[in-house]
Amino acid sequence: RIAYVNGRYLDMRHASVNIEDRGYQFADGVYEVCEVRGGRLVDMPRHLARLQRSLGELRIKEPMPLAALSVVMHEVVRRNRVNDGIVYLQVSRGVARRDHGFPAESVKPAVVVTARSIDPAKGQANAARGIKVITLPENRWPRVDIKSTALLPNVLAKQAAREAGAYEAWYVDRDGYVTEGSSSNAWIVTKEGRVVTRSADAGILAGVTRAVLIDACEALQVRVEERPFTPAEAASAAEAFVTASSQLVMPVVSIDGQPIGDGKPGALAKRLREQFHRFAVFS
Ligand code: PLP
Repeated sequence: RIAYVNGRYLDMRHASVNIEDRGYQFADGVYEVCEVRGGRLVDMPRHLARLQRSLGELRIKEPMPLAALSVVMHEVVRRNRVNDGIVYLQVSRGVARRDHGFPAESVKPAVVVTARSIDPAKGQANAARGIKVITLPENRWPRVDIKSTALLPNVLAKQAAREAGAYEAWYVDRDGYVTEGSSSNAWIVTKEGRVVTRSADAGILAGVTRAVLIDACEALQVRVEERPFTPAEAASAAEAFVTASSQLVMPVVSIDGQPIGDGKPGALAKRLREQFHRFAVFS
């Protein structure tokens, strides 16, 4: 496998970063994960726009023009012969002697891009079974709108889910509402067939898959309510699902051990999963 590291395409065995990279020492960096499908990148404009926003919020310089980053990502996908899978991009604030405050202006951000194949049959099998979700108290910082590599609470939540025999953990805020999953946005479908997901104003990462799916729902004449919901509302909903670039629309069949609907993947979630790529942008 080939990785891009700060201007060079290297064999993974030789691809490494400096131990004084602030990404390594402070998780002082941001990232994006894009789906690769049929050798093409999915929804790149939205991913690049979000990257630009994340960088801006943290005052990390753009390491190169976004168009050039896009070229690098395509090149890493090509060199790894990824047909279906993901491409990962990380930008950190760069290398400097360890000190919490920002380094000198002259320090350049560090860029890493990797890609790997994922058998689409695996996601399909997962979707056909549906996933189990647990809930956990929200314990992340309030700036979850920034796609930062500081993911320790997310790591612990995902591990807690696995240890509970589940696939994803949904965070519940102090007011008792679901925010999102450890690596996905959370959705339910009401008995009236309306799709509900928390507004991107607060408490969540503005998922690219989420945004595309909202457009898709509109085109498919599925009503969307952008509002928070509680685990209790989810437990009595007709369906539930999660969205993420690496998972598309993934049906949820139970929350904290309680089956959703008839305990099988929901019909609308299945339909939205099948229709999703009609509304995606390929490049
Ligand atoms: N929320 C969190 C915390 C995530 O880590 C992710 C992505 O992995 C998402 C939501 C979904 O975002 P996207 O659809 O852009 O992949």
